[in-house]
Amino acid sequence: MNVKVRIPSPLRRFTAEQTWVAVSAQTVGEAMEAVVDQFEDLSQHLYDTHGELRRFINIYVGEEDIRQQGGLDRPLKENDEIMIIPAIAGGTAGEAIFDREEYIRYSRHFSLPEIGLEGQRRLKQASVLIVGMGGLGNPASLYLAAAGVGRIGLVDFDVVDLSNLQRQILYTLKDVGESKIKIAKERLESLNHKVEITAHEEALSSANAERIFANYDIIVDGTDNFPTRYLVNDVCVFQGKPSIYGSIFRFDGQVAVFYAREGPCYRCLYADPPPPGLVPSCAEGGVLGVLPGIIGSLQAIETIKQITGAGEPLIGRLLLFDALSMTFHQVSISSDPNCSVCGDSPTITKPIDYERFCGVSGMEETVSVPEMSVQELKGKLENGSNLLILDIRDPWEWEIAHLDKALFIPMNSLVSRLDEIDPSKEIVVHCHTGIRSANVSNYLIKQGYTNVKNLRGGIKAWTSEVDPRLMQY
Ligand SMILES: [Zn+2]
Repeated sequence: MNVKVRIPSPLRRFTAEQTWVAVSAQTVGEAMEAVVDQFEDLSQHLYDTHGELRRFINIYVGEEDIRQQGGLDRPLKENDEIMIIPAIAGGTAGEAIFDREEYIRYSRHFSLPEIGLEGQRRLKQASVLIVGMGGLGNPASLYLAAAGVGRIGLVDFDVVDLSNLQRQILYTLKDVGESKIKIAKERLESLNHKVEITAHEEALSSANAERIFANYDIIVDGTDNFPTRYLVNDVCVFQGKPSIYGSIFRFDGQVAVFYAREGPCYRCLYADPPPPGLVPSCAEGGVLGVLPGIIGSLQAIETIKQITGAGEPLIGRLLLFDALSMTFHQVSISSDPNCSVCGDSPTITKPIDYERFCGVSGMEETVSVPEMSVQELKGKLENGSNLLILDIRDPWEWEIAHLDKALFIPMNSLVSRLDEIDPSKEIVVHCHTGIRSANVSNYLIKQGYTNVKNLRGGIKAWTSEVDPRLMQY
């Protein structure tokens, strides 16, 4: 008989969020076994160690309780609908329950239908690893501890520096020179002693990442460098875990949930890191102190949504925040079947040498490249010159304003898309103000392109001096 089994919401995380599972079976018992065959993780929640249906699980066919109808041997008819109805959040069978303090502490969560007792129970049973206890890890860990995530792991090996206090809100002046992770653990434990905090005081590396990640359900990526970012992504893909990504630079932030089981990973978005020196670090480029507070808090929200199942996760979407214009933009991102780690035939199946992959070896140098003014470019375009205008900005910048004839290759994709740039043409590279494009021009020249110029002042100069119809940003 073809029948359908309805999975209750607390158990849907074991069925890839499927509500109805179609199976073929003659009896209720066979139908349940067929469901467990498809979703092995369900087994321990439905059956006890003797293989008996757990006593807090009731099963109905249509509107009738099977206990009155022969139990699991009850025969089925074609198209029968079987309902699994567990006792919810009553603390049955060793499920997490709350004490009086917790009922009061989390009362504002209990009032939310999207979280409620069941969501709070999931939070209590969840484990989250936060990689990096800097600007992003600070607010993320504070909110996750306050929210009642049962186990939180912290990875960092740095000490508190005075310049951290502008944005790393866990630390105070008296902590300067102390271990970040030690201070953070104390602070989080004093906020919520119901949460178990584990400190991993070591630099995350290819040698230890798999071991550390194995103990957690979800990874919050609060790193500030490309080698660690790729390492976090790859190990999350290997272990089938979501990575809650956040990044910050100056006044701009990005957030996404990379979860290869349900959508793209970080490598699907950025197959290769930018060459060293192309993207300045926050230490070089600066960062608004409040910015990581916003982005880290958004990461905490997405983490809580992953755990509780509330709302629509930020999977397959990249959220872009610009503090100066106070705008949020969102772009769609999709899985890349050719992705080297989560694609159809992955070439990376264990951690690699990420320092080498990212080419990090202090190769930075001053950049001096041939330039072209916006007036020169205007003249060339009016004379019908067949030059190639290369726009290397981010997608959200392209959406705001771009030149009609420009070839758009965001800087982070440049390495993998180099073959789209015709070396026989005169190439003019531009960004917003001419700084990033100078680095890219330099990079192209090193790659053997002989006729490359940087557009001085970028699209900003073009907009103010040549074409004021374009939106200024
Ligand atoms: Zn991928």
